[in-house]
Amino acid sequence: MSKIDRFIRYGVESRIAEKATSNGLTTSKARVLSQKDMIEKFDLSSAEAKHISNCIKRAPIDKEVVDLLLESANYTCCVCHGVKGTSYIIHHIEEYEKSQNNTYSNLAVLCPNDHDLAHRPGGLSNDLSPSQIQKAKMKWEKQVEIHDAQKAARAIEIDDSAVDYINVMRIEAMCAKHLGSIPFTTISEKLIAYGILDRTRKFDQNFVRNNLSNGRYLFDYINHEETEHYRQLLSKISEVVDFVDLSEMAAKGFNGVKDLEGKHAFFIGGVYSKSPDLPITSSSPPIAMHYPTKKINIFWDLDPNYLMSMSSISRMGRKNRYIVYCSIRSVERGGKGEPCQVVASPLLISQPSKFVHKTPAIAYIRRHRDEFNDDEDFDIDE
Ligand SMILES: [Zn+2]
Repeated sequence: MSKIDRFIRYGVESRIAEKATSNGLTTSKARVLSQKDMIEKFDLSSAEAKHISNCIKRAPIDKEVVDLLLESANYTCCVCHGVKGTSYIIHHIEEYEKSQNNTYSNLAVLCPNDHDLAHRPGGLSNDLSPSQIQKAKMKWEKQVEIHDAQKAARAIEIDDSAVDYINVMRIEAMCAKHLGSIPFTTISEKLIAYGILDRTRKFDQNFVRNNLSNGRYLFDYINHEETEHYRQLLSKISEVVDFVDLSEMAAKGFNGVKDLEGKHAFFIGGVYSKSPDLPITSSSPPIAMHYPTKKINIFWDLDPNYLMSMSSISRMGRKNRYIVYCSIRSVERGGKGEPCQVVASPLLISQPSKFVHKTPAIAYIRRHRDEFNDDEDFDIDE
């Protein structure tokens, strides 16, 4: 744990924790020093020394709780979302002096400005009440989660065991088109040795069907390395091909989406799908997966042969929260009062895995604040 983090655990404001630490002050020294010594020996203002000496008397918050709280809030004030400044402070929603409650539910990340508002004696209309802070915290954590998922999606940060669907033929065709051939991945040598890939690193359907999956399935359901191989291929493709956020474009209206025709996109959200008829054979009809809102209705046609595992098959037929990488085939304007209709071919479908970046992405969030406040396109209720 860094020296700054030690101060943060006591509820010291991040800017003051940074200053104190870089001036050589530690929590153990702060505990025994007078405010006067802190001011003289560590070059702090009297307000800073007073703040530290008040905080240091408390029991520190558990490190795990602090880490989760800060990451879930993207190290940013849950009330103003960083507009009033980048410094932050861990606030006790029910006052520490009264509650001594250091649990997650009693803590929120605030900027110093909003922290002052929260501690101002009641009566003024712009004061922050505990219930307002609770609501702001929940809403902000949801927005941060969406933002983290978007960022992970752009970087093709997917947990390979969370992949439910891979259209190997389309991904290989995209490699040929955009990269000249199917590149090596960290797994390809191994998969060639198994016989799953042929010498040109193409997926060998017949070999897998006849030798690895009892003649029934396209994939060797035991071998998750196939998934990682195709994830890496998609990642290499994404270095030369743009995957656009479909929800972001949908927020711009019909013309935004129409521009995506023939291009590639990713979508994060709750989708509905039909169950495939079992057993799945090479003549199984496509499964329809869709995402309806007032503005947009997206349809993906899934070839059930490309479902990655038995659990992927069982997930079909209900609502799932997915990341879908796809090619946009057609975009048609809906009738009067009807949403626009988008037809897309999926390349890879995965359950989103949480990816948290340590650095605050405030600039990014600022630029996108309007979209984040429009929750309609992000249906993540399960
Ligand atoms: Zn704030």
